[in-house]
Amino acid sequence: MFDINQLIRDNIRSLVSYSSARDEFHGEARVFLDANENSLGSPLMKWYNRYPDPHQSALKERLSAIKGIDSSHIFLGNGSDEAIDILYRAFCTPGEHNVIVCPPTYGMYEVSAAINDITVRKAPLHAAFGIDLDALESAVDEQTRMIWLCSPNNPTGNSLQVTEIETILNNFHGLVVVDEAYINFSRHRSLLPALTEYPNLVVLQTLSKAWGLASLRIGMAFASAAIIDVMNRIKPPYNINGASQELALQALEEVGQVNDMIRIIVSERERLADVLSAHPAVIHVYPSDANFLLAKVQQHRALYQHLLDHGIVVRDRSTQHGCAGCLRITVGTPAENALLMQALDAWMESQA
Ligand SMILES: *Cc1c(COP(=O)(O)O)cnc(C)c1O
Repeated sequence: MFDINQLIRDNIRSLVSYSSARDEFHGEARVFLDANENSLGSPLMKWYNRYPDPHQSALKERLSAIKGIDSSHIFLGNGSDEAIDILYRAFCTPGEHNVIVCPPTYGMYEVSAAINDITVRKAPLHAAFGIDLDALESAVDEQTRMIWLCSPNNPTGNSLQVTEIETILNNFHGLVVVDEAYINFSRHRSLLPALTEYPNLVVLQTLSKAWGLASLRIGMAFASAAIIDVMNRIKPPYNINGASQELALQALEEVGQVNDMIRIIVSERERLADVLSAHPAVIHVYPSDANFLLAKVQQHRALYQHLLDHGIVVRDRSTQHGCAGCLRITVGTPAENALLMQALDAWMESQA
């Protein structure tokens, strides 16, 4: 049976977390002399002299309304990257526990594990980039604490099968983290509703992609209140700065505008996929549920350089497992995509 208390690291279970001035007094007062702020103000807006809300209550309430999930199930990190790091620090003991990743996938799961001295075991995706359940099963041992899944997956763009993710959730007694950074571009639904069924599920999302707010550094983790509580206890108290909280709240009022952008990006993705597929330099374009395409091309290094010579930078993913000869191309604006197509045509002419 799944028992979250068995998974929490010993030193974290007994942790007394930092109590900030804003924790100890919460509410209205005429004069705040409790946090050693600069009472005169700041060179910027007046309120920047104050520490931000460590609980990000307003932002979480707004996200709660949008996602239909109570605030007690939401953790906010300084980007998803902080949520990833905090999951390691909460649930994995350095030098003792291990986690499983499914390459090719997002590099931070492995980097963050290395920083925390956690062993990474690999259960590579199969040739069509779906989950290899047998490989996963044989990678799990007594010390395995987390399985990292990314859906839609970066850098491949495809979604993993929900039935397979559910098989893992039902059979693995550690945490299953599903990174949905690109979910807004997908034709498949989020796993968020499954949180009520699976106490071992953690869903990651971010404001960095569809919401267009990569610079604000706001990542979200959704999980049981017990998991979220542990994450909140070990995060730095002011991990989301005040300017980011304020700006994110403003942006979250613009759901309509964001949905319009998502529609444009998805339709550009399909157009780009068609044109790329028909291009003589392109061997294969993988199906994508994200805002990028993975394309296997001829002479990927020379083509990469050619695009760069035209001022276009894409990502060379050819060293990733199963991605030999592959470039990852973010969907641009219609004008940017037109420039990409022109540069690709110029490439064929230069080859002729
Ligand atoms: C871009 C991306 C993120 C977002 O990370 P942030 O730190 O929130 O900007 C998370 N996961 C994956 C797989 C990504 O590609």
